[in-house]
Amino acid sequence: MEVFGSSGVRGVVNEDLTPEFVLGIAKAMGSVLECDRAAVGRDTRLSGPMLVDAAASGLASVGVSVDRVGVVPTPSLQAYAAREGVPAVMITASHNPPRYNGMKLIGRSGVELGVGELEAIEGAFRDGAYDPVDWPGVGRSRRIEGVNRAYTEELVAAVDRDRIAGGGLRVAVDPGHGAGALTTPYVLRALGCEVVTLHSEPDGSFPGRNPEPIPENLGGLCRLVEAAGADVGVAHDGDADRAIFIDQDGEYIEGDAVLAAFVGAVAGPDDVVVSGVNVSQRVVDAAEEAGARLELTPIGSTRIISRVEELVEDGERVPVAGEGNGGIVFPAFRAARDGGYTACRFLELLAGGTAREVVAPFDEYDNVRVDLGYGSREERDRYLAALDAYVRGVDAAVTEIDGYRLDYGDGWVLARLSGTEPLLRIYGEARTPERAAELVAQVRGAVE
Ligand code: MG
Repeated sequence: MEVFGSSGVRGVVNEDLTPEFVLGIAKAMGSVLECDRAAVGRDTRLSGPMLVDAAASGLASVGVSVDRVGVVPTPSLQAYAAREGVPAVMITASHNPPRYNGMKLIGRSGVELGVGELEAIEGAFRDGAYDPVDWPGVGRSRRIEGVNRAYTEELVAAVDRDRIAGGGLRVAVDPGHGAGALTTPYVLRALGCEVVTLHSEPDGSFPGRNPEPIPENLGGLCRLVEAAGADVGVAHDGDADRAIFIDQDGEYIEGDAVLAAFVGAVAGPDDVVVSGVNVSQRVVDAAEEAGARLELTPIGSTRIISRVEELVEDGERVPVAGEGNGGIVFPAFRAARDGGYTACRFLELLAGGTAREVVAPFDEYDNVRVDLGYGSREERDRYLAALDAYVRGVDAAVTEIDGYRLDYGDGWVLARLSGTEPLLRIYGEARTPERAAELVAQVRGAVE
């Protein structure tokens, strides 16, 4: 997939990501999927209305009528697609800075399109293989109201309201001026929580914080949790398909620890858990403890969700999947990352203890990362040849689906080329900082 990377397509608006590009992809999508109706939604970015118009125009030109649903979280648009049985285009750059925008394509079942369909759309786009219609057949456009309200009601009905309400929780929510501002606070209030908010005005200039829910952007939420005496803090990215949590003392909780806690809570023997090849040891240990099989895919949500769909089709039970960045999938609800639903499920766990207690069994791990730059193709190939020779001789389980992952039982190391920069990245994780550093140093030594 050249156009669609590991989780949709993103770029700087009017440089890499132009209206012409969005128009072309929309024409290709309408032609390949052969639909007569599709939905288009967007996050809060300032370039969103321009790109929604481009997508709607492209769809209409190939005979597809367009439901314009306005500003919605990606999972809210997915819920609409599933309810109506129509494909959808989401205009979002997810966690990227304000100058970016992008597209995510969703199928009739509300699940992001898989690798095969995306490749077909890319091919039609590259070849200009569109199916324009004669003038009477051009698609119509209509505005749809109430999409977020329906999604909010769906979430409230899908979780254990009594359990959450019984906790008498005070929750601090930071949607980061993104689309989650329109849904998550309302969902949590409907579930009996007392909600305080920060950065909850939808605003595509993102005045309060950048959309990515990483520790350096969440200082305000950490302070709010403390000042308000909240039990937990919840932060989203720009399109609210991810959720990150802050504990009752205002401390950031690693996304890997949250994913591991979910695995511990919902996975059982013979279940399958799916994650990326950079999966944390915390999740490895949680799956092993539960007796579940852990399957790894190339990095990125598109690959994970495609694999989940295949497994479910084969009759496997996949109770949870996802990554440590807060993008978590509960396939029995929908094979989609959903920040609002993930927040509700985390609140269910709080009936068993404080936020920190819930993640404590998966908390004591250390990560090390080293980036080795290369100056030429030859140097890069020397790195890869040295790595290849090294992994043949190690006493570890080797996974080669996206770089080289070596699992030692008590820790792991992953060496893979960056997709965007001339770097070989080496990640390691273990229960002690010494062991993590040792694993990374061994690979680095072999390469250098
Ligand atoms: Mg996102």
